[in-house]
Amino acid sequence: MDQIDTDYLVTGAGAMGMAFTDVLLTETDATVTLVDEKSAPGGHWNDAYPYVRLHQPSSFYGVNSTPLGSGAVDEVGTNKGLYELATGSEVVAYFRQVLDQRFLPSGRVRYLPMSRHDGDGVVRSLTSGATTQVHAQKWVDASYMRVEVPSQRPPAYEVADGVTCIPPNGLPKVSSPPPGYVVVGAGKTGADACLWLLQHGVEPEHISWVMPRDSWYLDRASIQPGDLFSSTAGGFADQFQAVAESTSVDDMFDRLESVGALLRLDAGVRPTMYRCSTVTTVELEMLRTIRTVIRQGRVQSIGPTEVVLEHGAVGVEAGTVFVDCTADGLARLPTVPVFDGDRIVLQTVRHCQQVFSAAFIGHVEAAYDDEATKNELCTVVPHPDSDIDWMSTIAATMTNTVRWSADPALADWLSTARLDWSSNGGTPTDEVDEAQLRTLEFGPAALEKLAWYLAET
Ligand SMILES: Cc1cc2nc3c(=O)[nH]c(=O)nc-3n(C[C@H](O)[C@H](O)[C@H](O)COP(=O)(O)OP(=O)(O)OC[C@H]3O[C@@H](n4cnc5c(N)ncnc54)[C@H](O)[C@@H]3O)c2cc1C
Repeated sequence: MDQIDTDYLVTGAGAMGMAFTDVLLTETDATVTLVDEKSAPGGHWNDAYPYVRLHQPSSFYGVNSTPLGSGAVDEVGTNKGLYELATGSEVVAYFRQVLDQRFLPSGRVRYLPMSRHDGDGVVRSLTSGATTQVHAQKWVDASYMRVEVPSQRPPAYEVADGVTCIPPNGLPKVSSPPPGYVVVGAGKTGADACLWLLQHGVEPEHISWVMPRDSWYLDRASIQPGDLFSSTAGGFADQFQAVAESTSVDDMFDRLESVGALLRLDAGVRPTMYRCSTVTTVELEMLRTIRTVIRQGRVQSIGPTEVVLEHGAVGVEAGTVFVDCTADGLARLPTVPVFDGDRIVLQTVRHCQQVFSAAFIGHVEAAYDDEATKNELCTVVPHPDSDIDWMSTIAATMTNTVRWSADPALADWLSTARLDWSSNGGTPTDEVDEAQLRTLEFGPAALEKLAWYLAET
């Protein structure tokens, strides 16, 4: 068996493993062995549907050292007026470039693609079967988030022979128009599939959308860096004010909706899901044109002319194409300590900001010695799933932000970190100053309210 000595063994060259390794390269002299089952870095982006784009501006995605995209504001399309969103293939090309032009030339990173880490430093090549024993000072688990996209596994319901049920990747391959499409799944992938169909000329009445739970969405206009940051800062202040002045959980969601912090598809249905999906108001208007929204729970089975759901059945025309968008994306996982002796488990430490979190953890690993301090700074903010989780993720993010700003060196690091969206702010304006004052005014009361509501629920 081959033997490798390395400072860090990183399992997973997805976005998080890449973002962590990048900071170690910048801030330490350490060597890293990066292992991944896939043939290219970028993790699930390699398997994504061809029309996928980032859900957030490119300018604060990727690795900290290397900009992604050109920082342009889109002039056309449903994201018009907002900062550009890289396509899936741009994200994959970017990570390849980071590997080839930064990691490997440093001489400090060894990359083992098509290789599975079976545990205890034993790495097995999926192509040759050869095993390598990696002796590492620390093992970094960059696979813990278990991201799953539909093309990676079959649907979790029965599909009768002869029924066409495709992952969203299959849509661009449709070659003859079916009588209709049923999009199964109400997360961001489901919304993307619906938008793709509408943008490719399918009439809304030919689309049905299976929606076991309605979702709260974030308005992409409210997470903009650079010259659009003032509306973002204002949006945050509005959000904290809405929470602070609310009188109950329902009233809080009503207020959040009325200030535009959260959006929903149907004003008559209260969402019970929140998974950080972002849309623009233009996209939401398009989605609202789909009138057949099936709210009868999850699909159990699909037959040639009927879909059986948890709470009923609906008829469909023979030949209908089903688009399976039910993969869990990012699941809500139990949290574990980020730093545990010689093991580091990459998780989210800011509300829905995976790459920022991995880079931040890399910085804390490089700059701090004491494990308790490191874990306190990297208190995990679990990925949300339900409406209630909106409250816990915001409260946990706020608490981390307060901790971080109490440490001047950390505040300095954040102020220049490319992946910290707020450090991406343009020229300071009076509007930003006003918003920041309002955030300071309402933040503490908002945090107290969230703690109170969470204890109640
Ligand atoms: C459609 C979609 C759009 C998204 N848009 C955004 C966005 O705009 N902004 C944002 O912040 N986030 C977004 N996300 C969230 C996104 O998942 C994260 O940004 C990030 O890509 C997650 O990366 P990861 O490294 O945690 O996981 P993965 O991409 O799953 O990478 C993990 C890697 O580990 C490897 N691996 C696992 N086990 C082993 C093993 N035993 N041995 C070797 N290798 C192993 C896998 O092969 C994989 O390559 C989006 C997610 C989806 C699904």
